Amino acid sequence: MTAMVGLADIVQARSRIADRVRRTPLVPSPSLAIRCGTPVFLKLESHQTTGSFKLRGATNALLSLSDEARLRGLVTASTGNHGRALAYAAREAGVRAVVCMSSLVPDNKVEAVRALGAEVRIVGHSQDDAQEEVDRLVSEQGLTAIPPFDHEAVIAGQGTAGLEIVEDSPQAELILVPLSGGGLAAGVAAAVKGRIPHARVVGVSMERGAAMQASLLAGKPVLVEELETLADSLGGGIGLDNRHTFAMCRDLLDDVVLLSESEIAEGIRHAFMVEGEIVEGAGAVGIAALLAGKVAPKGPVVVLVSGRNIDEVRHRTIVHASITNAHTSPEARV
Ligand SMILES: *Cc1c(COP(=O)(O)O)cnc(C)c1O
Repeated sequence: MTAMVGLADIVQARSRIADRVRRTPLVPSPSLAIRCGTPVFLKLESHQTTGSFKLRGATNALLSLSDEARLRGLVTASTGNHGRALAYAAREAGVRAVVCMSSLVPDNKVEAVRALGAEVRIVGHSQDDAQEEVDRLVSEQGLTAIPPFDHEAVIAGQGTAGLEIVEDSPQAELILVPLSGGGLAAGVAAAVKGRIPHARVVGVSMERGAAMQASLLAGKPVLVEELETLADSLGGGIGLDNRHTFAMCRDLLDDVVLLSESEIAEGIRHAFMVEGEIVEGAGAVGIAALLAGKVAPKGPVVVLVSGRNIDEVRHRTIVHASITNAHTSPEARV
């Protein structure tokens, strides 16, 4: 039996985390509005503390624990935006956080997690080895594992971004949400549908390794091969034992669209050159979906821009490649 996270849980999460996360800006995009023929707004979670919305879920999960559990500490195997968010939330709360990583994780990622005050454990040579260490710390030291998406308090926390969207843009008819494990999409869809039932919520993933889309088509969680992609924060599976996000995405999302790597690059480029925003691949997929014409909005659109944590050299390469091609595709900056 799966439990759905509802509007009431999200409203409660909001009051719990309000003074620990930013209320991020919702800004109009005149250039996308001209292209789409309807107002377009960007919800800039790329401006969230730690560089992504993940701080919302991590903070809500931490604050939902009993004092006793919180004092024993938290653990995760995520080295990406969730690990970063959990490390930060734990430090702010004065709580121990352990991030387990395999020896294959690059030094700069290890240092980034350490810099946020988390304890790093290097174990084995794979993500599975790191996850085994998480399980061991849970059973031997009583730490609490906070997973990146399939967890009720995490989903409710991510949903607070959806509440802000409907408050700042109550006329929205279409919300575009980056989709990987589905914690963000499930939470945002629950908030949006709770407040504006006729609004459409569409998930956006990359063609290369879209685990939720493959699972929705199969009618149950399935494994997909993980491939390298510009939207690296969208990589990874949804878990064959998925308890919440699969059912919520199945029931609440109106559609899922997939993007090629060059379409994602175009989204990153547009975010920087036209909107003046540094956005990582996963964060740019909503913009990319509009640019590629993969969704055809008829009314006001909100694009959730989920994060900004992209390697600087990679970002420069993508933007530069488009500058050298610029004479073939002139575009006014609106
Ligand atoms: C984690 C993440 C996503 C996907 O969130 P899910 O809840 O796993 O679907 C999208 N964008 C960024 C920047 C992320 O860090």
